[in-house]
Amino acid sequence: MNNTPNYVIAIDGYSSCGKSTFAKAIAALLQYIYIDTGAMYRAVTLYALNNKLITNGVANKEAVIEHLPKINVRFERETDGQVKTILNGEDVSETIRNLEVSKNVSAISAIKEVRQKMVELQRSMGKQKRVVLDGRDIGTVVFPDAEIKIFMTADPKVRAQRRYDELIAKNMPASFDEVYQNIIDRDHLDTTRAESPLTKADDAIVLDNTLLTPQEQVDWFLELVKSKG
Ligand code: C5P
Repeated sequence: MNNTPNYVIAIDGYSSCGKSTFAKAIAALLQYIYIDTGAMYRAVTLYALNNKLITNGVANKEAVIEHLPKINVRFERETDGQVKTILNGEDVSETIRNLEVSKNVSAISAIKEVRQKMVELQRSMGKQKRVVLDGRDIGTVVFPDAEIKIFMTADPKVRAQRRYDELIAKNMPASFDEVYQNIIDRDHLDTTRAESPLTKADDAIVLDNTLLTPQEQVDWFLELVKSKG
């Protein structure tokens, strides 16, 4: 796309809705930077698991807060367009996708101090605009003035099947029921937490992609940009 506008594009929505696939595609199209904010919360969760700051799904909040200054999360962009998530100097891009991290991430992302640190980082990454961020609170908290806000949703069974297929393709052990339950649990925790719960911003446009292919979603987005003039 030529002459792309200088926008912040905020994409929020439920777990495993294909937000990152969609966000990456439109970032490539507009030549924007893509910021996967979920990866940041996942990296903090991996740190907490590795350092035994979570027991049986319950985070030791005080300990996590105490460790926060020692947790460095950043992205590394490869020339081929791949983005690596780096936790304290280590590439954790694959590890943060495992089910153990998925099961514990909502407990970590509910901690106010964790969110404050991540939101600050996200705002500094997006201050030059020309960014697409996906997450749960982008249009409501991180960039409430974003020029385009999209709220993604899809049938939970379809979401679980997509995530299950992805894990199996990556040789990451999983059962469909476990993946489905994790999605239901995360939707519940993310929408009911006290700190920045997942909710649709009033000015966000809903994209239900249950029956849409990735290309159809991109086509939908192009129409949306056109309609903005
Ligand atoms: O997007 P993804 O599924 O990788 O996000 C993992 C988890 O991180 C979510 O279930 C949610 O608990 C948390 N998250 C969040 N705010 C964001 C992005 C992710 O709380 N902006």
